[in-house]
Amino acid sequence: MATGKIGVTTENIFPVIKKFLYSDHEIFLRELVSNAIDATQKLKTLSSFGEYKGELGEMNVKVTVDKGAGTLTVSDHGIGMDAEDIEKYINQIAFSGAEEFLNKYKDTANSIIGHFGLGFYSAFMVSKKVEIRSLSYKEGAKAVAWTCDGSPEFEMHEIEKEHRGTDIILYIDDDNKEFLEQARIDTLLKKYCRFLPVPVISGKEQEWKDGKYVDTDRDKVVNATEPLWTKKPADLTDEDYLRFYHELMPGQEDPMFWIHLNVDYPFTLTGILYFPKVKSNIDLQKNRIQLYCNQVYVTDQVEGVVPEFMMLMQGVIDSPDIPLNVSRSYLQADQQVKKISGYISKKVAEKLDKMFRDDRASFEQKWDDIKIFIEYGMLTDEKFYEAAKKFFLLKDTEGKYFTLEEYRALTEASQTDKEGTLVWLYTNDPTAQYSYIKAAADKGYSVLVMDGQLDPHVVGMLESKLEKTTFVRVDSDIPERLIRKDDDKDAGLTPLQVDIATTLFRSQIPSVEKAQFIVNLEALGVAAAPATITQAEFMRRMKEMAAMQPGMSFYGEMPDSYSLVVNTEQPVVKAIIDDATSALEKEVEPLRADIEILNNQIAAARKEAADKKETADTSEQEKKVGELRSKVEDLIKGYGADAPKVRQVIDLALLRSHMLKGEALNAFISRSVDLLDK
Ligand code: ADP
Repeated sequence: MATGKIGVTTENIFPVIKKFLYSDHEIFLRELVSNAIDATQKLKTLSSFGEYKGELGEMNVKVTVDKGAGTLTVSDHGIGMDAEDIEKYINQIAFSGAEEFLNKYKDTANSIIGHFGLGFYSAFMVSKKVEIRSLSYKEGAKAVAWTCDGSPEFEMHEIEKEHRGTDIILYIDDDNKEFLEQARIDTLLKKYCRFLPVPVISGKEQEWKDGKYVDTDRDKVVNATEPLWTKKPADLTDEDYLRFYHELMPGQEDPMFWIHLNVDYPFTLTGILYFPKVKSNIDLQKNRIQLYCNQVYVTDQVEGVVPEFMMLMQGVIDSPDIPLNVSRSYLQADQQVKKISGYISKKVAEKLDKMFRDDRASFEQKWDDIKIFIEYGMLTDEKFYEAAKKFFLLKDTEGKYFTLEEYRALTEASQTDKEGTLVWLYTNDPTAQYSYIKAAADKGYSVLVMDGQLDPHVVGMLESKLEKTTFVRVDSDIPERLIRKDDDKDAGLTPLQVDIATTLFRSQIPSVEKAQFIVNLEALGVAAAPATITQAEFMRRMKEMAAMQPGMSFYGEMPDSYSLVVNTEQPVVKAIIDDATSALEKEVEPLRADIEILNNQIAAARKEAADKKETADTSEQEKKVGELRSKVEDLIKGYGADAPKVRQVIDLALLRSHMLKGEALNAFISRSVDLLDK
């Protein structure tokens, strides 16, 4: 029998371990099972090299709960340890400044355990005493038992042990009784050990008998030792991938497709990434990619490890090159991990590119569902953008798909404006904007459907990337001006007519919630609509962008500004303006003349005063102007009240933009009935 002191530099490391590693208690099981697997694999390797000549026998790892004895035991039939090994690997904890280190990283228990050879010692997080019973594979080895109660003193003596391998027996302490429940152990094994390469046995298979589940005498194997990602893609069927997916992500719909990563240069990386169908809302469901290191579960917090846009994907990534047992912040800063992330992104892009080139029709069929991944990738990852711009597709309102290059070729001749800018028209709601789309199509323009959740951002991104190309929503202007080919035509009205028409239409616009209007008179030809509501592209975008910024929601509360564009050449409108002018001319003209005289006086007075570096008092005249202007407006408004066609023209425009609602809609209907009667 031997006793001695464990070689740590701090007096007693165990209280430190218990205190600081508190939050991650459960990982002790992963550590012990991993050690057992390692010992098993090592022996297999030695055997395959002929360095171990004995029988391998059953090579599994067993996790046994003995509630009565208060113990949890992890057993293996691996290489085992003799007294010398224990002295070397267990007693000499090979690092200095343990306490200092623990202090520094107290929030990230994972960063220390394992990484610094503390794996085995994590057993003390949950145990009052730990016993190792081991028989080495070496010929003539003597079995040893080592015990330690959490003080730096250990005790070691020879024992009788029949089978080669190691039992680690934990005497679970009172605070951690949960680890004596088979159900809890099952959960942990499922989380950490599900895909370990050696069978892990814990508890018994159960069967349904007499109205309840009872244990059978068959051992329960908790893991799949050859998970799908470790196999060759060529040997797998779609069913295999789907079955694995549902095992991994229970309760999900079938994914759209998947990418099997399988590379060994420049680093070893395997994995399967599934593209799920993303529903109406991007729920940025994180934690859906699980990270493994040689089939040992590491984490499902993969931010910074995989490219951000892949957070939408699901699946597994396994790489021995991803440092196991380090904190996430460490992972994110790690150069190797950054390379891996970039590499995964490249692989995904390659796979998509191949799908596109191999079978464009089926790629197009999937496009609406996968575009969110690709857009997200392009928006957040410059390199991915460069790769994806070849297979990124635009869809027009007829459901045809184009690459960026194809679409440029299609539209270049007809949709370049007088400044030489290529204008791509789009709709974000083909049903609501139907009549605008139709009007644009009638002019020979193509309209894109950009109704995805990320499309407002994509529009901005493409504009910044593509040369002299701009996106204009199809309802942001009258068709004639969506793509400006020449200068605007004069409305062809006298100043009096402009005043009367503008005031008349403005006075009759019903109040629309959260909207304000200005009236524009345009000569748009006899065939065009009498009036149209438009919202300038830049205004709408500004609001949209502001609405997406946190804390800027007050923008969303502000009214939207729209234009009511009145087509002065449309016969009905023309008649309205002519009639109004004849009816109002006599009264309005003299008032306008008076206003002009007053305005001239005001301007003259101001100029005179300015020359003398004084300020003119023109308040009298200004007040007069105000009064006269009110008179003009009242006259026109009064006339408008009895001119139902003005309201009718406005309401039709509102109706087309889905802005005619409630009382205004009701008034429109009754007025329409009245007009039918005339
Ligand atoms: P690490 O596994 O990171 O090296 P551990 O503290 O978990 O650190 O283990 C230290 C060493 O103890 C291992 O490297 C191994 O040599 C030895 N060891 C631990 N568990 C076993 C086991 N079940 N069988 C054989 N050797 C073991």
